[in-house]
Amino acid sequence: MKYLRTEIIFIFLFTITISFFGLAFAETGDDVSKESESSKGGIMSKVKVESATEYVLPVLPYAQNALEPVISAQTLSFHYGKHHKGYVDNLNKLVAGTEFAGLTLEEIITATAGKADKSAIFNNAAQVWNHTFYWNSLKPKGAGEPPAALKHKIEASFGTVDACKKELAAAATTQFGSGWAWLVLDGDKLKVIKTGNADSPLTQGMKPLLNIDVWEHAYYLDYQNRRVDYVNAVLDKLINWNFAADNLK
Ligand code: FE
Repeated sequence: MKYLRTEIIFIFLFTITISFFGLAFAETGDDVSKESESSKGGIMSKVKVESATEYVLPVLPYAQNALEPVISAQTLSFHYGKHHKGYVDNLNKLVAGTEFAGLTLEEIITATAGKADKSAIFNNAAQVWNHTFYWNSLKPKGAGEPPAALKHKIEASFGTVDACKKELAAAATTQFGSGWAWLVLDGDKLKVIKTGNADSPLTQGMKPLLNIDVWEHAYYLDYQNRRVDYVNAVLDKLINWNFAADNLK
């Protein structure tokens, strides 16, 4: 009897002890998950705060090797990963704490265009915009026939799609030094124009439909000085008429 009572007391104490440790472990687990939630929340809210005021390098619309063999993955990794990223990083440093912080790229570009004392901000904002537009102006297995509405518009302005491509090639190859060739909508007509350095049709009241980067960093690793070969290959294999057609809408 005495033995049985001791056993009951032992089981009772054992149960209490287990329950206590069980609760303690549960508490600890809860604390850990609360802590990780709160640090996750902390990081998340930091990211949110930063992304509200900082410009972010947009994700490439394809893999870095997707434009091969016309544009190599090596060119893409430098052009996107170093040059485009560099413009984003510079812009963030330049606008921090200024009246331009938090504005859209288009707002910065139009507000700083032609102002000598704001040229660094203009150049970096425009180059961020121009490059994002350029990645979308290309696509793997691009070129071919433009969508019907765009084709109609191209034929009305240039006669044929080939004539439009020839104008784009001429603009891209005759741009002296660094710059861009563009297909734009100017009023009711399509036009091909070229701009130097970071300059953009956005500051000339035109609507960009697609662009071709002719800075040497866009082609030098693959084509060295042969800009004409790069431009023709882009127009024959990569140009994204669908993107231009979307911009026309
Ligand atoms: Fe570039």
